[in-house]
Amino acid sequence: MRFTDPVCRMKLKRKDVHSTINYLGKTYHFCCEGCEKEFKKDPSKYVRDKGERKSCH
Ligand SMILES: [Zn+2]
Repeated sequence: MRFTDPVCRMKLKRKDVHSTINYLGKTYHFCCEGCEKEFKKDPSKYVRDKGERKSCH
């Protein structure tokens, strides 16, 4: 099982997961404290992107 950090979009294996947050019934995984804080600051910014669409930046 792989997770994607919604903030930095890094692919995480379970052992790489620093922390998880439950937001609106979904669980989000973060690689580090910085990403977790960033998410908490403005969750809607990261949650909005629902699909596994490739980001074009
Ligand atoms: Zn991250």
